[in-house]
Amino acid sequence: MTATPFAPAIKPFSASSDDFVTYTTARHWIGGHWRDPISNTAVQDVINPRFGKVIAQVKMGAADDVDAAVQAGAAAARDWGQWPIRDRAHVLYRLRELMLKNLDELAWLLSHENGKVFGEAKAEVEKGIECVEYGCSLPNLAAGNQLEVSRGVACELAYVPLGVVAGVTPFNFPMMVPLWMLPQALVGGNSFVLKPSERVPLSTLRLAELLAQAGLPAGVFNMVQGGREVVEALCDHPDIKALGFVGSTKVAKAVYGRASANGMRALCLGGAKNHLIVVPDADLQVTAENIVASFTGCAGQRCMAASVLLAVGDVDHILAAVRDRAAKITVGKDLGPVTTAAARERINRYIDQAEKAGAKVTLDGRTSGAGANDAGGYWVGPTIIEGVTPEMAAAREEIFGPVLSVIRVPNLDKAIEIENASPYGNASSIYTSSGDLARRVIDRVEAGMCGVNIGVPVPREPFGFGGWNDSCFGHGNITGWDGYRFWTRQRKLTSKWALQRDQNWMS
Ligand code: NAD
Repeated sequence: MTATPFAPAIKPFSASSDDFVTYTTARHWIGGHWRDPISNTAVQDVINPRFGKVIAQVKMGAADDVDAAVQAGAAAARDWGQWPIRDRAHVLYRLRELMLKNLDELAWLLSHENGKVFGEAKAEVEKGIECVEYGCSLPNLAAGNQLEVSRGVACELAYVPLGVVAGVTPFNFPMMVPLWMLPQALVGGNSFVLKPSERVPLSTLRLAELLAQAGLPAGVFNMVQGGREVVEALCDHPDIKALGFVGSTKVAKAVYGRASANGMRALCLGGAKNHLIVVPDADLQVTAENIVASFTGCAGQRCMAASVLLAVGDVDHILAAVRDRAAKITVGKDLGPVTTAAARERINRYIDQAEKAGAKVTLDGRTSGAGANDAGGYWVGPTIIEGVTPEMAAAREEIFGPVLSVIRVPNLDKAIEIENASPYGNASSIYTSSGDLARRVIDRVEAGMCGVNIGVPVPREPFGFGGWNDSCFGHGNITGWDGYRFWTRQRKLTSKWALQRDQNWMS
C-alpha cells in the first residue's frame, strides 16, 4: 500500500539559535491541502514568549471548517480503515525516521513558538517519537483473543476503527500531546481532526507534512486552527465518534460534558496541583536536584510539575539545598519564559498574595525575572514560597509557573491529608530511602501517577498517561494500550463451522 509522493509546501523553520525569526501563517490542513477558513475572517497573533514578539499568525476556523475536515476525514477513513494494521503502522515507522532526521529543526520551531529552552524542546520531540514508536508496536499488541467456548464454537475479538475522531491539545506540549493521541488513533484505522492550541499552532504544521511525506493518505489527518468555537463544533459534530482533550480542568470538564451529552466517546485530561512529600531520611543530593528540576522545568508549565512541597519533620538541610540549587538557575539560559504576559501577571499575583497572607518568599522569581522582562518576553525566575498554609491560594490552585509552595507538616498523616484534600489527582511523589515508607505513602495518595525519588513521575511508553479526580474526565489513560482501546471499538465474533446437530441452543 503506498500513497502518492508528497512535496512539502511549507518551508522548514530556519532558526538554529534563540535569535528571533518569523514563520509562516498557520492555516487548516484538510484533505491533504493547506486551506484558508471558509467564513471566519479572524486572525490571531502567535507570540514568541522569549521576545513577546509576533512570530506568525493563525487563521481562526469555525464550525464550517470543522465540517469540511470531518467530510475529508470520513471519505479517507473508508479506505484507510481497510488497510491491514501492519501497513498503517508502517506509516509511523517512516514518520519516526523523518522526525529523527528533522529533530533539531522541529525542536527549534517548538522552542520558538512555546518558549521552552532548546534542550527541553528537543526532549519533547524525542518523547513524541517514543509515542510514535509505541504506535509502531501496535500490530504486535493488537492481535485479538480467540477461544473455543463450546465444542466447535469459537469466539474472537477484534479492534475495529471508529471512523472520524478528534483531538484538542494545550499550549505547553505542542508536539508531544498531539502524539499522545495520533499513533493509536491512526494505527487503529481512524481518520483524525486535530485542533492544536491557537497559541502554538506551528510545530504541528510540520508534523502534518511529515505525516504526508511518510505516506499517510490525504484526509486521514486533518487540522483545524482556532479556539473555543472550533472545539465546540467538534463536540457537536454528529460524525465525530470520539474526542480526546488535554488542557485545563475547567475546559476539560466543559468539553467532556458537551461531547458526552452528544453521545460522543470522550476522554478529557485536565489541570493539576502536584504534591511532593519529603521526609528526613531522603537522599540530599538526589532529592534537591529532582525537586528543582521538577518545579522549574519548562518554566513550571507541565501538568506533572511539582507545585507543593510537603516538608515532613526536620528537613531544613534539604530545603537549604533546594534553595541553593534553584538560585543557580540562569533565567533565559536554563529556564525559558512563561507563555503570555497574562500568565506572568497571574503567577506574580499568586506570589504577592501568599506573601501578603504571611508566607515568606525565600527565592524571588519576580525580581530574578524582572531584568529579563526589560528586554521583552514574559519571564518569571524560580520562586520558593515557604511558610505556606493549606488555605492559601498558592497551596490549592494551579499556578502553572516555576513556583514551589512549601508547607511544613509534623507527620506523614498530615502530609497525606493535605494532599488528598486537593481536588486534582495527577502526580504525587515521595522522597525517602525507606521502601516500606514509600509504599505506605503511595498506597494512600489520591493520584494516578506516583513517584518514588522522582520529581516528574511520567509513566513512559508502554505505560499509559492519565490522572485521577479533577485531572481526568472519562475512563482510562490517553496513551499506551488504553489509548488504543479508546480510539477503537471491540467486535466479538462467535462462529460455528462444525455444525453438530447434537448441541443445545447455547452452543
Ligand atoms: P486550555 O484549557 O486553556 O486550552 C486547551 C485547549 O482548549 C486549547 O486548544 C484551547 O484552544 C481550547 N480551549 C480554551 N478555552 C476553551 C473553551 N472555553 N472551550 C473550549 N475549548 C477551549 O489549556 P492551556 O492553557 O492550553 O494548557 C495548560 C493547561 O493544560 C494546564 O491546566 C495544564 O495542567 C493542562 N495540561 C494537562 C495535561 C494532562 O495530561 N493532564 C497535559 C498538559 C497540559
